[in-house]
Amino acid sequence: MGVFAFDPGDAGRYLSAMRIVLLGAPGSGKGTQAQRLVERFGLPQISTGDLLRSAVARGTPYGLQAKAAMDAGQLVSDAVVLGIIRDRLAESDTLRGYVLDGFPRNQAQARALAAMLREIGKPLDAVVLIEVPYKEIVKRIAGRRSCPKCAAVYNIHDVGPGEALRCRNGNDHPPLVQRPDDNEATVTKRLEVYEKSTRPLVDLYAKQGLLRRIDGDAPTDTVTQRLMGALLQPAPASKAASRSGRKTGRKSAAKRKTASKRKSAAKPKSAAKRKGAAKRKPAAKRKTAAKRKPVAKRKPVTRGKPVAKRKKAVAKRKTRRR
Ligand SMILES: [Zn+2]
Repeated sequence: MGVFAFDPGDAGRYLSAMRIVLLGAPGSGKGTQAQRLVERFGLPQISTGDLLRSAVARGTPYGLQAKAAMDAGQLVSDAVVLGIIRDRLAESDTLRGYVLDGFPRNQAQARALAAMLREIGKPLDAVVLIEVPYKEIVKRIAGRRSCPKCAAVYNIHDVGPGEALRCRNGNDHPPLVQRPDDNEATVTKRLEVYEKSTRPLVDLYAKQGLLRRIDGDAPTDTVTQRLMGALLQPAPASKAASRSGRKTGRKSAAKRKTASKRKSAAKPKSAAKRKGAAKRKPAAKRKTAAKRKPVAKRKPVTRGKPVAKRKKAVAKRKTRRR
């Protein structure tokens, strides 16, 4: 058994066609994890900060509006940010899926985003909350150091004893520096804003059946595995229809998935139990096995279908792959 217990082919196809929002406090590692999804599954990363800078630089209509606001010392309005996201989602690389990172940050933005995505027919498939204790976040951010030459980011807490922290992208790179914003006072302030404005989105998305939570207090690779495990919770089979007939199948598949997710999204344990059931282990063993295995190592589960049908779905998928 390799790193992943599931078939990487199927899982990869499934993950590369998801519309995902990563939610988490500043410093929870969502940027890093979004990057992983980009690298592994080719999902385009929709980062509002980058998009804004690029729109301003290119002088697009929304970019000009954003620039006007920034020049006047004002915040860029939600309407402008949404317009920029909408423009980005009109590009062909986002047809299958995308990872939205850094937006929405409050309930008004979340509602506006949902309305816009409905309008263009690209509703979200999943929202993943990466949970890290605030104490750990403060430690992480205060330990951040970056290379003035190539902007690579490192952390003093990742370095082994006796090892010097230097940029690994070249011997000629200068010593690492701490960015002025990466200090404890600033971080604490940002966490307060997150708690007040962004944290309420957790309830909002939970009610919509979109939310999955993962524990982000672990090494990056472990968190990536947990993230993939969380994303794979609904059955890849529920996407089968959309794979064969994208345009007509997508909407109904998404709807079906949301409906089936609603009950269990907040309870990852139930998925483990169901997997146990599928394998027909005795009940006692099932429970302990589920407890011992980390989320990411579990196989993706076909939700809500009786065992017989589930097996058929798996067989079908295998046939299609050939
Ligand atoms: Zn460097």
